[in-house]
Amino acid sequence: MARYIDSSCRLCRRERHKLFLKGTKCFTEKCPMERRAYPPGQHGQSRRTKVSEYGVQLREKQKIRRMYGLMETQFRNVFARALRTEGRTGEILVKLLERRMDNVVYRLGFAPSRKAARQLVVHGHFLVNNVHVDIPSYLLKAGDTIQVRDKSKKLEVVHASMKRMKDTAMLPWLSLDKAAMVGTFLNVPERADIPLDANEQLIVELYSK
Ligand code: SF4
Repeated sequence: MARYIDSSCRLCRRERHKLFLKGTKCFTEKCPMERRAYPPGQHGQSRRTKVSEYGVQLREKQKIRRMYGLMETQFRNVFARALRTEGRTGEILVKLLERRMDNVVYRLGFAPSRKAARQLVVHGHFLVNNVHVDIPSYLLKAGDTIQVRDKSKKLEVVHASMKRMKDTAMLPWLSLDKAAMVGTFLNVPERADIPLDANEQLIVELYSK
């Protein structure tokens, strides 16, 4: 399967937005966005005054897609599913992204970034409702539990990530039993509760062209 192998920080700089793709580094002064918050490349610092409507929509789509770590085809598929679902397509799109197993593993603090979460899921370190699941795109439902497998409970990356996670930082639709390393997806969050600084309506407009 295709995957992005270039520098993650370049993506943040391209979008002029912190996408939090590198875990701990994103919260330190080593984050390149703290020093060079302009697009990479020779013309990164040159000022373009006018960005077309299409350009604005495209950048917003790229920002969300990259933040959740999806390739274009995967993102299109999620959008197609949102389109088939009754309701506001943009909001449904964000909720679908938020329900992905790799995202929930990251949000629960089992991994420092979505990329690391995806790798942990693929390597089979989690159970969902006591069943082994290794599909990052698996969609969680209200009431589902997600736990670190016994054989994986000593993984340094998981421990280090959980240590950094503050109890107060847990999102309202998730709960975590730190000692047992079990998280619960309590309910599908409302869009207003999801900490995502983006305008998903622009994606709907982009894909409607
Ligand atoms: Fe983006 Fe994190 Fe790199 Fe900063 S450190 S540019 S937030 S991926």
